[in-house]
Amino acid sequence: MTPRPKRNAQGARWRRLVAFVVNRDFGRCWICGHWAAHSADHLIPVTEDPSLEWDVKNLKAAHGYPKGCPDCTIAAVKRGGKPVYCNEIRQYGSVERARRKIEERTGLRLPIGDTATVPEGRDCWLLTGIAPDGYVMLMFPGR
Ligand SMILES: [Zn+2]
Ligand SMILES: [Zn+2]
Repeated sequence: MTPRPKRNAQGARWRRLVAFVVNRDFGRCWICGHWAAHSADHLIPVTEDPSLEWDVKNLKAAHGYPKGCPDCTIAAVKRGGKPVYCNEIRQYGSVERARRKIEERTGLRLPIGDTATVPEGRDCWLLTGIAPDGYVMLMFPGR
């Protein structure tokens, strides 16, 4: 699980890092695949490798407290459930397991395995390169 921001210097540093990661990933949650993520999640949990805590390559945008996923939350609440905070659902587990849990809670079929494709209506983005891990880096022209 990604630590919730604290009111100290580390908290400020974390929020800056999250802002960078969310911007880089265009707010697309790597767990559920939906947009409007405002938080970040460690691919390799800090408990497994504390040296990767501040590594941007180990972070991806994800829905987290207090802003849950709008798509998943609407679906979950309709079924009488609670807001969906993707990084808290994943905790230290695999992303596949988290997706199954979210699908159970929401009844949705999550968009999976297509994080490298440019979504419809966003063709104003430019493909600027492919990172060593296969992640496609996108940039807004003029940014
Ligand atoms: Zn999500
Ligand atoms: Zn979602």
